[in-house]
Amino acid sequence: QKPASRERLDELLAGWAPAAPEPAPFSEDELRTAHDRGQWVLHYQPKVSLRDGSLASLEALIRWAHPEQGLVMPNRFIELAETSGLIVGMTEWILREALAQIARWQGAGLHTRVALNVSMLSLDAPDFASRVGEIVREASMRPEDLILEITESRLIAPSATPLENLVRLRVQRFGLSIDDFGTGHSSLAQLRDIPFTELKVDRGFVRGARSNPVTRPLLEGSIEIAKGLGMQSVAEGVETEDDWRLLQEVGCDLAQGYFVGRPMPAEQVGGWLQAWAARRGGLAQPAS
Ligand code: C2E
Ligand code: MG
Ligand code: MG
Ligand code: MG
Repeated sequence: QKPASRERLDELLAGWAPAAPEPAPFSEDELRTAHDRGQWVLHYQPKVSLRDGSLASLEALIRWAHPEQGLVMPNRFIELAETSGLIVGMTEWILREALAQIARWQGAGLHTRVALNVSMLSLDAPDFASRVGEIVREASMRPEDLILEITESRLIAPSATPLENLVRLRVQRFGLSIDDFGTGHSSLAQLRDIPFTELKVDRGFVRGARSNPVTRPLLEGSIEIAKGLGMQSVAEGVETEDDWRLLQEVGCDLAQGYFVGRPMPAEQVGGWLQAWAARRGGLAQPAS
């Protein structure tokens, strides 16, 4: 017979699951194959007005429908897509797919703008702005219905070409959003040089802002900067009603996050809208 301590150890060991091993990184070849086989999928996450809850836009977020691993999130492949240059072709696919989706939604009576993530690296192609303009015109869509969210890539020093592309996109009336503002991938110099229409405060400044004496002034300051420059302010990572109320108090325009809705397949957006319609009344800005 085993001593009690040994039995307890067995019990503990039986309940102990080793941490899932880090999945092996993907190779450039695997990524190229995924692209050629059409394995990209877009999910959409709403941005809504903090004043009345109305839908402002839906952000397209890429996933990889991997034949063995299931849905793979972008943090596992976007960086490789950038360093390998594959991001350029992917972004073109994303753009076409988003345009097709806007058209499908319009057909179903939902008129909404769509936001796409574009890395600084794809903006390095000198003809990026004209390509994008061409694709949108060919699809008979309006540039006003697209917002390009820009996160400065860690890997590349900003050069003249991306800046020129962004100015030319704005001239064509595309919306331009500065993503993850405040994380070091974005800077005041970009705000000075690029005619952004939207500023997305990184979720690091939203979480716990009510009680954190350091992040709260940074959140409020970012919202003030947006206001001063005539841009819409968006808070990302809004996870609780408390976050939502605080953002109303500090005058943020739009909210995005799990509290409002998680990224979802396009087919689920209609159902989300219905569920949201039932919740948003109680969340409207109190009259002051
Ligand atoms: P991002 O553009 O800042 O997107 C926000 C990320 O935060 C998304 O993760 C989203 O699912 C997640 N998120 C949204 N709400 C909440 C919340 O309330 N709490 C928390 N904890 N997280 C929240 P995802 O989809 O994994 O995307 C990660 C990043 O990958 C994106 O950050 C973006 O930089 C990049 N990415 C995604 N799709 C694309 C794409 O199509 N093209 C490019 N170039 N980059 C993309
Ligand atoms: Mg984004
Ligand atoms: Mg972020
Ligand atoms: Mg972001």
